[in-house]
Amino acid sequence: MLGLMQKQPLLISSLIQFAERYHGDTEVVSRRVEGDVHRYTYRDLAARARQLANTLEQEGLQFGDRVASLAWNGYRHLEMYFGVSGSGRVLHTINPRLHPEQVAWIVNHAEDQVLCFDTTFLPLVQAVHAQCPTVKKWVALCDADKLPTDAGIPGLVSYESWIGGASSTYTWPEFDENTASGLCYTSGTTGHPKGVLYSHRSNVLHAYGAALPDVMGLSARDTAMPVVPMFHVNAWGLPYSAPLTGCKLVLPGPALDGKSLYELMEAEGVTFAAGVPTIWQMLLNHVRAGGLKFSSLRRTVIGGSACPPALIDAYRDEFGVTVLHAWGMTETSPLGTLSTLKRKHLSLPREEQMKLLQKQGRPIFGVDLRIIDSAGQDQPWDGKTYGDLLIRGPWIIDSYYKGEKSPLVFDAEGHGWFPTGDVATIDPDGFMQITDRSKDLIKSGGEWISSIDIENIAMAHPAVAMAACIGMPHPKWDERPIIVVVKRPGAEVTREELLAFYEGKIAKWQIPDDVVFVDAIPLGATGKMLKTKLREQLKDYKLP
Ligand code: ADP
Repeated sequence: MLGLMQKQPLLISSLIQFAERYHGDTEVVSRRVEGDVHRYTYRDLAARARQLANTLEQEGLQFGDRVASLAWNGYRHLEMYFGVSGSGRVLHTINPRLHPEQVAWIVNHAEDQVLCFDTTFLPLVQAVHAQCPTVKKWVALCDADKLPTDAGIPGLVSYESWIGGASSTYTWPEFDENTASGLCYTSGTTGHPKGVLYSHRSNVLHAYGAALPDVMGLSARDTAMPVVPMFHVNAWGLPYSAPLTGCKLVLPGPALDGKSLYELMEAEGVTFAAGVPTIWQMLLNHVRAGGLKFSSLRRTVIGGSACPPALIDAYRDEFGVTVLHAWGMTETSPLGTLSTLKRKHLSLPREEQMKLLQKQGRPIFGVDLRIIDSAGQDQPWDGKTYGDLLIRGPWIIDSYYKGEKSPLVFDAEGHGWFPTGDVATIDPDGFMQITDRSKDLIKSGGEWISSIDIENIAMAHPAVAMAACIGMPHPKWDERPIIVVVKRPGAEVTREELLAFYEGKIAKWQIPDDVVFVDAIPLGATGKMLKTKLREQLKDYKLP
């Protein structure tokens, strides 16, 4: 051997060790379920994560055992991110917005041994605990004096009394970086949820990738606020990228309304935030209604579903906040692409730049994309031809937890690609744009119509708060699009006015056949529009 580098495994514990050592006095601020604001430092976080690791040892949990959370974004949940994974166990973050039967199903499937929950979710725990025989310890993430009494859950303890007596002296174990660290189930809109198992290596590499300047651009001068929940795809990796860069972390807890988010952002000097479009729309409504300004917020990543261009424009033009449109999935850890300009785009007129920034963006190093047709042939990268989107990389899923069949599609060289279920175009510069979920594309007279395009136009109308485009069966054209609209409070728009709003913006045959006004559009467990449910609700609807 002529010489080589050190073989240090990429472990999640190294992130908290780094933050403690080099950013020990940087703050982690959390809004608690109790309503008050809690603050401590990375140094405190590291010490309490070690106490938790010692507690898990005392509890007799083995390497690889699953510890579940049902929790908002907060410091105790963050301690679990490091104490559970760092000590070699697997953190299973459960989405509390799932149906109780689904929660019980995934707890059993994951064979969780301990389940820690915010007291908000006590009713859910009460509904499922008897169906979860693998769980031997139920822990309420609260102070000892806030422990719910008469909860009917055998052996229930408060987190503080559970870890309180444990020592904060603990040596993080070293092991293979390809060890499982976290488990997150997809929302399961079709069939049972599927478990996505992250590894130490995949999460640490993803944390590096996420922090890059053309991605989240995080630094030790930032204050980051993940509004995206820590129970959904690790809050897009922010709990890892923050200690990796040493930025201050602000965790909003359960208070996700526009007013609470705005006040916390202003009080803590948040410079960077991340969340799904519905959250940013609510915040925008609040800020506009009150004639407010953002004094510190500079950048926000919006993703998880298509970000309406009108929202990107509003933040940029009215508030000087840059919106970074991102795409990803539970199966992709989640960051796949993010839209930022290249040097050559800087001289383009603003409208041309905006067209690029509205796309889902360019892959982050580590991620590779392809688009293929139904015969498996690669499609041209011309920004127009679309195909099924495939993805591969070190933080992309290989197989589902306990999955029997590989979801991958193999190329001629034997490389496995994950089929995303999205339909997309890619332009010559590598900017990817999602046309639709393959199941949501509308086929009219043999031609495809993108529901996202139709929704984006409606969302640009000042009277529209939310819009969903779905295909309705049609005797001649197979399917025709209709647009289902929730109006803004106090705003008015008629069917005819909205249909006229489409003229000149898309081809005539793509304009929806009808507008259906509703009070609310059903949202899924991660705040995305649930088109399956909407279709069910409109099953008796007839096209005009
Ligand atoms: P689930 O699939 O369980 O609902 P995910 O968060 O994994 O939850 O959803 C991933 C899907 O969300 C993607 O495949 C894509 O269809 C959609 N999505 C995510 N980000 C965007 C985006 N920026 N634009 C359009 N669709 C998006």
